[in-house]
Amino acid sequence: MYDVLIIGAGPAGVSASLYAARSNTANVTVVSDDSSSLKRADLIENYYGFADPVPGAVLLEKGIAGAERLGVSFVRDEIVDIQIDPEMKFSVSSSSGITKKYDAVMIATGASRKKPDIKGIKELEGRGVSYCAVCDAFFYKNKKVAVIGSGSYAFNEASALSDIASQVYIITNGDELADGIPENITVVDKKISSIEGDNRVEAVAFIDGTRLEVSGVFIAMGTAGSTELARKVGAPVENNRIMVNEKMETAIPGLFAGGDCTGGLMQISKAVYDGAQAGLSIVRFLKSK
Ligand SMILES: Cc1cc2nc3c(=O)[nH]c(=O)nc-3n(C[C@H](O)[C@H](O)[C@H](O)COP(=O)(O)OP(=O)(O)OC[C@H]3O[C@@H](n4cnc5c(N)ncnc54)[C@H](O)[C@@H]3O)c2cc1C
Repeated sequence: MYDVLIIGAGPAGVSASLYAARSNTANVTVVSDDSSSLKRADLIENYYGFADPVPGAVLLEKGIAGAERLGVSFVRDEIVDIQIDPEMKFSVSSSSGITKKYDAVMIATGASRKKPDIKGIKELEGRGVSYCAVCDAFFYKNKKVAVIGSGSYAFNEASALSDIASQVYIITNGDELADGIPENITVVDKKISSIEGDNRVEAVAFIDGTRLEVSGVFIAMGTAGSTELARKVGAPVENNRIMVNEKMETAIPGLFAGGDCTGGLMQISKAVYDGAQAGLSIVRFLKSK
């Protein structure tokens, strides 16, 4: 039996583990530091198979339970390094000081969305503060919303919102605005002091004492991270996305990636699809060894 490590216990990693484990060719371990985006998703109502909205944390637990039933091992740890040794095995080290060797590795570490250190963001998460326009735009039909960010990620989020919201603002928080701002978006270049609201977002307050009344605030600073591990083994990364082909193979034989860390549609359905492809590719790779 070969040893396979999947880094990340979100929908992409868990989906890959199902396919790899059922092939009977590998011992499959999934390692995670317990930070899946899905945990932060209050209610999911755009994923197949649920009559009622399902909390993200519940979907996550059910996925893991299904994989455990098939013999997948789950470990809580943070991976800090991957190297390729002379026998072409992956030598993977964690923050708890453990280094182990694997025949194949999948990176499914999700996207690390940058969080600004602004008062009110943490408190109002899920109550007007969102990290995903595709997921939550629907709730802001004909309402005013703000996107905090200044680059292409923020522009994408603003475009998705502008079809639904009555008015979309991009708040740069004092950062320089990139080129390519979409039409119908109002730019506010002031520094933010806090997000205000008792129970839900009501306004963004600026350090010059002014306020902008909005019903929702979308955080879209920088782009997705999570690519450092790929870089360590020399797998190409572009615009903070790990580059993969349609089989979820990176340029490094035996190293696969999928889910939010490979970009594209940052949704559960896409992560599950990527995981299925990666799982099948891992099996094919091991059988060809
Ligand atoms: C607030 C919010 C609401 C959302 N709502 C929806 C929705 O309604 N519908 C929808 O389809 N999608 C929604 N999404 C998006 C969805 O959650 C993601 O697209 C999906 O979870 C991506 O899956 P993934 O497996 O690629 O990554 P993730 O689910 O983010 O999982 C990443 C995994 O990697 C692990 N990890 C990361 N780095 C390391 C490391 N160094 N060592 C060990 N483990 C590591 C984490 O612990 C985690 O287990 C939402 C996201 C957010 C934040």
